[in-house]
Amino acid sequence: MAKIQMKTPLVELDGDEMTRILWQMIKEELILPFIELKAEYYDLGLPKRDETDDQVTVDAANAIRRYGVGVKCATITPNPARVKEYGLKEMYKSPNGTLRAMLDGTVFRAPILVKGIEPCVRNWKKPITIARHAYGDVYKNAEIRVPGPGEARLVFTAADGTVTEEKIFDFEDAGVIQGIYNLDSSIRSFARSCFAYALDVKEDLWFATKDTISKTYDRAFKEIFETVYEEEYKDRFEEAGITYFYTLIDDAVARIMKCDGGLVWACKNYDGDVFSDMLSSAFGSLAMMTSVLVSPDGCFEYEAAHGTVQRHYYKHLAGESTSTNSVATIFAWSGAIRKRGELDELPEMIRFADCLEKATLETIESGTMTGDLARITTLSDVHQVDSLGFIRAVREKLEELL
Ligand code: NAP
Ligand code: MG
Repeated sequence: MAKIQMKTPLVELDGDEMTRILWQMIKEELILPFIELKAEYYDLGLPKRDETDDQVTVDAANAIRRYGVGVKCATITPNPARVKEYGLKEMYKSPNGTLRAMLDGTVFRAPILVKGIEPCVRNWKKPITIARHAYGDVYKNAEIRVPGPGEARLVFTAADGTVTEEKIFDFEDAGVIQGIYNLDSSIRSFARSCFAYALDVKEDLWFATKDTISKTYDRAFKEIFETVYEEEYKDRFEEAGITYFYTLIDDAVARIMKCDGGLVWACKNYDGDVFSDMLSSAFGSLAMMTSVLVSPDGCFEYEAAHGTVQRHYYKHLAGESTSTNSVATIFAWSGAIRKRGELDELPEMIRFADCLEKATLETIESGTMTGDLARITTLSDVHQVDSLGFIRAVREKLEELL
């Protein structure tokens, strides 16, 4: 069989530890035998980040902006223990944080559904994708511990000296105060990313805040979403046969539990933090989750939602067999290959991505799976395999499908 030819290169961002090992296996077994891979390679492994003073991460982000599609392996975010372990020059920032800031993106996470791994919520038949705003709110707050009686005021001094003030509370006793903020520009690009993503996957978009209570702060979110929708997306949504639905956050939560899925749920920062963990655990596992960073101008970076699986890596280094789940990393590759195929109008690449995902799911549905899934599956005839064994089983199915 002739290999599939590409037009534009993919930006490939290599990573760390066990996922770096899986990365190599996936490329060798599932990508290179079938595609004449054109990739611009950036090594985001910690040693290379250290060697380049993290310039490699910046270069990779710029390459994604240039080419439009990247695929990223999980990477270590250094903490003091990692600085020591790798003898780092400094405690570099999270590569995902750097990429997110440079691409001004929103992260979309969706569960990968497969027979035999059943969601705890019976009526969830289709995936629910969470889009989390990743700027401001309680994550960038200012807080004061109030020691005793006194008056708390909210004060804004404009650059020209004009002062706006509002009383918060007359304290008669000890308590706490919190100040939070957000930016119209950030909310607007979050809204655009969500509308663009919903259009891309042709699913309804839900958004919710508590604007009945927070009449200025949350209302700003509601209104910016509404304006962006009316001015930029309404026609395209109608054309695609999808809807934009706004409601209160408590109503959204109640409806999520009753729906059958197949929608994108845009969440404010804190809501997204809480509800993405709820969804991923209710759907099964972080290793069965796709994750893509989408910039408002339409750049896509695909990755796995989980980390570098450090504990498995140390087992691997000690020469022991590992049974690490590569599904999320395989889907990062298939997502990037499909998107590249769509942008370059190469149906062969799109078909390959579809087959790769189908082969992965069918492998699990036939009972061949890694340990994490074997522990929770409802299938009775289970064949637990090691990391490479799973990828080879997927390759067999893939060859049949192609
Ligand atoms: P982790 O890599 O997500 O792993 C936590 C635990 O979850 C593992 O020990 C394993 O449980 C299970 N697990 C996660 N992914 C799995 C998979 N693919 N297959 C099987 N089991 C899986 O989180 P971590 O160990 O806390 O973090 C390790 C490093 O990853 C850190 O340095 C962190 O900075 C980095 N990180 C990177 C990203 C990213 O780049 N996207 C995201 C999060 C964390 P058992 O040990 O019980 O088998
Ligand atoms: Mg969280």
